[in-house]
Amino acid sequence: MAKNSIILTLLITVFAGYCQAATHSYTVSVDDNIDSADINICFDGKPPEYLAVDKRKGNSALIKFPRSKQGHIEIQGRYWNIRALAENACIDYRVDLSRHHAKRRKETKDRRNIFFVDENSWLWLPETIAKSDEIEVTFKLPKWASISTPWMKVSEKAETYRIGHHPQDWGYNLMIGDFEQRFVTVSNGHVLSIASSNNMQQTDKIDQWLVDIAKSLENYLGDYPASQTQVILIPKPKYKNSPVPWGSFSRGNGFGILFVVVPSVGIEDFYADWTATHEFSHQLLPKINYDDIWLSEGLSSYLQYVLMGQANVIPAEHAWYKLFSGLKRGEKGTKKLKPETLQQASERRSRGGRAGRTMRIYWSGALYFMKADVALRERSGGKVGLNDVLLRLNRCCINGGKIWQGRELAAKLDQLADEQIFLPLFDKFSQSEEFPEYQETFDKLGVVLAKTKKRKLELKENSLARKIMQLAN
Ligand SMILES: [Zn+2]
Repeated sequence: MAKNSIILTLLITVFAGYCQAATHSYTVSVDDNIDSADINICFDGKPPEYLAVDKRKGNSALIKFPRSKQGHIEIQGRYWNIRALAENACIDYRVDLSRHHAKRRKETKDRRNIFFVDENSWLWLPETIAKSDEIEVTFKLPKWASISTPWMKVSEKAETYRIGHHPQDWGYNLMIGDFEQRFVTVSNGHVLSIASSNNMQQTDKIDQWLVDIAKSLENYLGDYPASQTQVILIPKPKYKNSPVPWGSFSRGNGFGILFVVVPSVGIEDFYADWTATHEFSHQLLPKINYDDIWLSEGLSSYLQYVLMGQANVIPAEHAWYKLFSGLKRGEKGTKKLKPETLQQASERRSRGGRAGRTMRIYWSGALYFMKADVALRERSGGKVGLNDVLLRLNRCCINGGKIWQGRELAAKLDQLADEQIFLPLFDKFSQSEEFPEYQETFDKLGVVLAKTKKRKLELKENSLARKIMQLAN
């Protein structure tokens, strides 16, 4: 072999070794009552430096401490230092799951345990996962049990999942027990993984409703934002104000939404409710620093009605009226409180000072995106809207472990739009002690408030307000 080709071969070998993607394998064997699990971890090549769970108390759930034949493991709070382990090492431990059994509600006659966690205190995962590395978890479950995770299922035959690259400590829901688990297609390459209790009423209709919500988001953006969204439906027997009294969004290890639903309510009431369009819309922004929560809640508050209007679930006039009413509530909420900037209101709320700030935060944020949408459309002669910029953001910046500062995200949106809209507006909004004005925005949109109580509001012909409620194609 010529000298040059030897060097080349050497270089390729070193380079391939360096870049080689590793797939670490976890096997979780759950006992028949879901009381405990034996966990076996085998690393592919060099083990990571640390394994971690979210909470220190995780160690108290250990029935058998971690052991490896290939070196020493040092327990440091919620971290396991495994730097001393050899290549391809394996670890075994056993953990108590019974402390995470969901409390059985009186109305369910189910005698079987359900394991439910919304924070990871039992599965020690690498503290950081390189982009090129994967973690596959195979569950060995009792025959009667199903599992719901935000992770991607990679095998038809086995309960094997690939953990996503969003950090686990951002929170996620994992459930094992006797319930129904369904994978429903939104479109090619995009699925909803839906879990609901056994024998829940009208699951076919509710699944279709969820797919329709997902499609409305897909139609808005031009693509569904994720390969998979986990949905967990918790039924509630009593109906008060809404068929979906509660929803929450989580993004640790993948996107997940938990809804409390009242399955006995007619399906048309589900379509008329905004909770699901709100929660699904959270998938369009990356994780933002909690002090800038007005951005993430703002986008969802704006889109919750835009998606309903675009899907013709409510007339365009009604969607704008709902947005107008929200802004009114935000304005009222701002006036009720002592003067403080939006930035301060968000920071104080994130430290527990909720009192009265919610409306201001949600609806200032909604107005922010509404104004940005109007400005983008004006400057591009109607060619570019907020949805186009959000699609660009989805392509570059949604995945991974980064937590964005609000200002940084605004600058990124400007860069993607090739305009100066989001950042100047961000500074203006975040530093304002007043609820920003919106009459001028409504004039630009062509929304006219009617004098009569019956009609409430009118939209001018060919107005921006009408265009926003129409789909691009
Ligand atoms: Zn929200």
